Amino acid sequence: LINYAFFDKDMQLQIEREKILLDELVQLSESAGDDGLVVDYQPVLDLKTDQVVSFEALSRFKSKRLGLVSPLEFIPLLERTKLIVPIGEKILSRSLKFLKHLNNLGYDVSMSINISAIQLLSQDFATRVIQKMNDVGVDPTKIWFEITESIFSNNYQRINQILGEIIKQGVKVTIDDFGTGYSSLHRVLELNTNGIKIDRAFIDGLEKISEDIAITKDIVSLGHKLNYLVVAEGIENETQQQYLKAYNCDRGQGYFFSRPLSQEKALEFLHNKNK
Ligand code: C2E
Ligand code: MG
Ligand code: MG
Repeated sequence: LINYAFFDKDMQLQIEREKILLDELVQLSESAGDDGLVVDYQPVLDLKTDQVVSFEALSRFKSKRLGLVSPLEFIPLLERTKLIVPIGEKILSRSLKFLKHLNNLGYDVSMSINISAIQLLSQDFATRVIQKMNDVGVDPTKIWFEITESIFSNNYQRINQILGEIIKQGVKVTIDDFGTGYSSLHRVLELNTNGIKIDRAFIDGLEKISEDIAITKDIVSLGHKLNYLVVAEGIENETQQQYLKAYNCDRGQGYFFSRPLSQEKALEFLHNKNK
């Protein structure tokens, strides 16, 4: 009985929190600006040259009442309510403007942006992306969209067609969290994509689980046979980096290099690394 009481209390708090969050996210989606939206940028390094070649845009939400909220909490809520469509546009604008700024400063770097299936399937997604790229005046070949295998649970044919349209413009597409989805490898490889991002779980296992060494090595070679750019995420130490360099993995990202950074700090990091 006591357990139930606790459970109810927990549920109650959870529901309250979600209500507050959703309320503020609706406000954000309806506002002209993007107050409360925080986008941090995590450096991605070329494992051969140790130079920063890209950043991944990672969103956070600065709630007035709840403080800083993780994307693991608010992105699923945005997807469920389809608010990811208007708010995703704000994230896209913000990160493309920062990319433009970096390129203007003379840094030859790209920007990776996470895109949900709901966004891809929203009305005129490709057209709106093209419009935005033109408005900001950014080079499409410097943009990567990261999608997860969850897109396979949606309208696969339609999604593949939209990806094709975007790729035609020069934008590149990569499969995020590669190796953790449930879809068949065959279907993954049929998708219009240019790269794979090996899931952190495999990188984590490099030091501990001998199977992960074999698997990670094979994922890199498989990717290269298919002409994919192969990125490893979640590199936390030197040992993991050494393994990935030895396997010829193209790029790496993780706390070992840097955590996600504010625009200012990202610029500083870039300035120090790429001189
Ligand atoms: P993701 O796209 O796989 O992003 C990588 C996540 O791993 C980020 O978590 C990043 O901070 C974290 N990470 C990076 N290096 C390390 C490391 O060395 N060790 C560990 N333990 N973690 C590391 P974050 O920022 O909390 O984002 C979580 C997820 O939320 C992202 O996973 C992505 O799926 C989603 N997300 C974030 N921003 C957006 C967005 O703007 N749009 C969409 N649709 N999804 C987003
Ligand atoms: Mg990602
Ligand atoms: Mg990932």
